[in-house]
Amino acid sequence: MSSSILWFRQDLRLHDNEALTESVRNADEVVPVYVFNVKADRISAFRLRFLIESVADLRHQLRALGSDLLIRIGKPEEVIYQLAVETKSQWVYCNRERTREEVEEQDSLERKLWTTGRELRYSRGKMLYYTSDLPFPVTHCPDSFITFRKEVDAIVPVRAPLDSPLAMPGIKTPYEPSDIPDIKLFLQDHDMTGDYLFAGGETEGLRALLNHDQRDPAIISMEEGLKISPWISMGCLSPKKVYYDSFTMEDGGEFVRQHLLYRDYLRLMGKKYGDLIFARTGIKTRIPAYEINPEAFDNWKAGNTGIPIIDAAMHQLNRTGWISEVLRKTVANYLIKVLKLDWTLGAAYFEATLIDYDPCSNWVSWLNLAGVGPDSREDRIIHYDVVGKKLDPDGVYVRMWNS
Ligand SMILES: Cc1cc2nc3c(=O)[nH]c(=O)nc-3n(C[C@H](O)[C@H](O)[C@H](O)COP(=O)(O)OP(=O)(O)OC[C@H]3O[C@@H](n4cnc5c(N)ncnc54)[C@H](O)[C@@H]3O)c2cc1C
Repeated sequence: MSSSILWFRQDLRLHDNEALTESVRNADEVVPVYVFNVKADRISAFRLRFLIESVADLRHQLRALGSDLLIRIGKPEEVIYQLAVETKSQWVYCNRERTREEVEEQDSLERKLWTTGRELRYSRGKMLYYTSDLPFPVTHCPDSFITFRKEVDAIVPVRAPLDSPLAMPGIKTPYEPSDIPDIKLFLQDHDMTGDYLFAGGETEGLRALLNHDQRDPAIISMEEGLKISPWISMGCLSPKKVYYDSFTMEDGGEFVRQHLLYRDYLRLMGKKYGDLIFARTGIKTRIPAYEINPEAFDNWKAGNTGIPIIDAAMHQLNRTGWISEVLRKTVANYLIKVLKLDWTLGAAYFEATLIDYDPCSNWVSWLNLAGVGPDSREDRIIHYDVVGKKLDPDGVYVRMWNS
């Protein structure tokens, strides 16, 4: 009998999950596991709660298919290695990650597995495109999104998403499933108040995708958009699934496909430039001038700048963990161009607050807005008063979030 571990990471779903499909195809026994390795100072209560709900939903779905989801807490490289030994698994299947800490985790696990003749088997699934399908190597990916789009959009086909399995092999080795931890285990001192507008998990994500036009836009934003980024970011929804579903949308779904393409572009910039996306200088050599003004930063964070649209957006962000793209750009631009603060402070604050936090989407967007990123189009002044008048001519949004 061949056994393998299926290590869920940021792919908390059954549909279009390559690691899951491959493990089921190749092994008689598949042991699914999720390891909580929470960095409490860098995750918002919104995101952590969303994560816990997503893991619970995944376990529920796996149990319905005759399997289970083992829950562990600790360093994945140690926990997964131990589990591979206990279950006599030859292979560990997982989705390959590309950001520093996750890469260190997977490299370290791989080295440990090698010492006992075991192997890590990587799959993909975070992007719309496979890098091998692109007409250029990652290192030559165009820096300009417009050029990138010209070379890819409507030229490179998006592969069809994989189906969810109809059944899973059972777990034969005796095991301890363990309970899903409570949020307080990780965030004792955190302020847990807020409006939790997004419920985590694939089931909720698929529902939100299907009913995107029935959700009340007034609650969440004034703009277009499916409001599904938390599920995409956590891997509860596959971008390929959203891409293919978009063709059935009433308006044809072109804007969604363009946004998913832009997401891929930011991810490719993350792969191309590696850790530089987190550096103050970005991909340039000069440090952009900035002022040190902790009071101004605190006021920006708390929504106390005195500018109604900026304050409303920061209140929405603080109370829900989510704001629309235009507002993300507007408050970021205000921090960079008006307050002239260090852009990395703003990016780190978004990281610690957003429910849909994604390293590449967040840091490369900030990099571009600060003028030290690959796409210089974004390095311009955004007139917050114009944005406010255009999006909120009657002041409904500002009143809702500033009250
Ligand atoms: C400074 C800044 C920081 C950001 N940080 C994040 C982040 O940490 N995580 C995150 O998911 N998005 C981030 N974004 C992108 C964007 O704001 C959100 O993805 C978007 O608001 C989600 O709304 P939606 O689901 O209605 O998107 P839709 O318009 O319905 O688009 C569908 C999906 O495409 C993706 N997408 C859409 N716009 C963008 C974009 N500009 N960049 C990358 N992906 C996009 C999202 O996954 C989204 O759910 C950031 C943007 C800025 C300007």
